[in-house]
Amino acid sequence: MKNIIKNTLNAVADFLFPSHCFYCSRTVTDGAVICRDCYKEIEKITENVCDKCGRAVGGCDCKRFVYHFSGVTAPFKNEGIAKTGLYSLKFAGDTACVDFYAYHMVKRLISREEDNGFNVITYVPMSPLRRARRGYNQAELLAKAVGKRLNLKVRGDLLRRTVFSKTQHKKVNVAERFENAYKSYRRTGKRIHGRVLLIDDIKTSGASLEACSRELMYAGADEVFCLTALLSDKNS
Ligand SMILES: [Zn+2]
Ligand SMILES: [Zn+2]
Repeated sequence: MKNIIKNTLNAVADFLFPSHCFYCSRTVTDGAVICRDCYKEIEKITENVCDKCGRAVGGCDCKRFVYHFSGVTAPFKNEGIAKTGLYSLKFAGDTACVDFYAYHMVKRLISREEDNGFNVITYVPMSPLRRARRGYNQAELLAKAVGKRLNLKVRGDLLRRTVFSKTQHKKVNVAERFENAYKSYRRTGKRIHGRVLLIDDIKTSGASLEACSRELMYAGADEVFCLTALLSDKNS
């Protein structure tokens, strides 16, 4: 009986407030954000990637850079359908996609057994001005949705952006990106311990994740592991 009522209510909701696939705009039901055809084609990461830097094994960056995080993983590539959905979350405020990405992030994380048992979740912070303009920080939204699924507390008081922060220009080279990132993030002074899961929407060069991880290690973390929605094979 309960199921009949639930199904009827869902059907009424679909009729009154139809939702659309974030990629092809086809109508979807039951609160989905993507249609079946697009879901079949979405760019999942299936090939071998380096456990630490997340790059395809042939393009591993671990010898080139020092990383304070122990590893990074993500369910999708920074391409096509996966990228479109994330960018609608990032720039158009489409928060309905948050749970879709969080679900796949958690699925990816728990498929790597060694990467479980975290004590705290945090996220890459945004400058207060930018956050106020946008109305939200997409990394924070993802962290909260991941935290809910893992039943873990999300801490927003561990890291902050400095006044140095500015939107990075595309032409800045990788070394400069790391240098800028190190100046852009600071720990707040709160002590932490144990294993920290650090969330961001996308890993490109890894500079922000590295700078935040370094600060979290200085704040007392035993380990920082990064989880993002997308992994890019390029540095910008
Ligand atoms: Zn579609
Ligand atoms: Zn690597």
